[in-house]
Amino acid sequence: MKVTFLGTGTSHGIPVIGSNHPVCLSKDERDKRLRVSILVEVNGYSYLIDCGPDFRQQMLRCKCEKIDAILYTHEHSDHVMGLDDIRPFYYRQGDIPIYAHKRVLKSLRKRFDYIFETGSKYPGAPTVTPHVIKNSPFQINDQEIIPIKVKHLDLQVFGYRFNDFAYITDMKTIKDKEIEKLKNLKVLVVNALRIEPHYSHLNLDEALEFIKRVNPEKAYLTHISYNLGFHADVEKTLPNNVFLAYDNLEITL
Ligand SMILES: [Zn+2]
Ligand SMILES: [Zn+2]
Repeated sequence: MKVTFLGTGTSHGIPVIGSNHPVCLSKDERDKRLRVSILVEVNGYSYLIDCGPDFRQQMLRCKCEKIDAILYTHEHSDHVMGLDDIRPFYYRQGDIPIYAHKRVLKSLRKRFDYIFETGSKYPGAPTVTPHVIKNSPFQINDQEIIPIKVKHLDLQVFGYRFNDFAYITDMKTIKDKEIEKLKNLKVLVVNALRIEPHYSHLNLDEALEFIKRVNPEKAYLTHISYNLGFHADVEKTLPNNVFLAYDNLEITL
């Protein structure tokens, strides 16, 4: 299994438009972060988790030629606004399967009504095949995927487990019975927004606390704001098995 971090930034991305913050001006490539998304490649299939506003650029950058399914964590703009750009995949492959909580599908139908149109559809619009995810394991092709339910302030968000890899973003809280689903992980990815606390995201201390509870072999932090600091500085402060993710990072499990 290969996981590619397509984007590791919070909703603004880094640099933030118009910002003179030193992290936004950093020359270190690892301090340049597109909006969060990952590509999971396993057994010849490619699964995209979230399809945000930087999707086109991310697909060009990783030279992705095929997407077998898109899984959504939740409906915030930084996670969904790239859907129109699936057109090149749609033209080559046909309808693209998408998987999400029913509330998220409802939101996608509202924002991208022309994609879900069945009557008089504009010929250039892509078509998707929606699948509703409930909080129980499901299969795509032969791959079992386990949803992990977390809360983002009051909003339900799904993380996803593929074999011994799990990806959770935009989490603030999680119930004990969901943590049970995260046993024996080789790699856990979780959001860590910044040093200061935040109402709907884990900050660095909370993310490290969560990682300690889950106890994976390795953990990577994502959904990062410029307020977290320079990549090089923050990474030095982390425990031995915890790393900051960065754009284009690939991990093989
Ligand atoms: Zn987000
Ligand atoms: Zn969000």
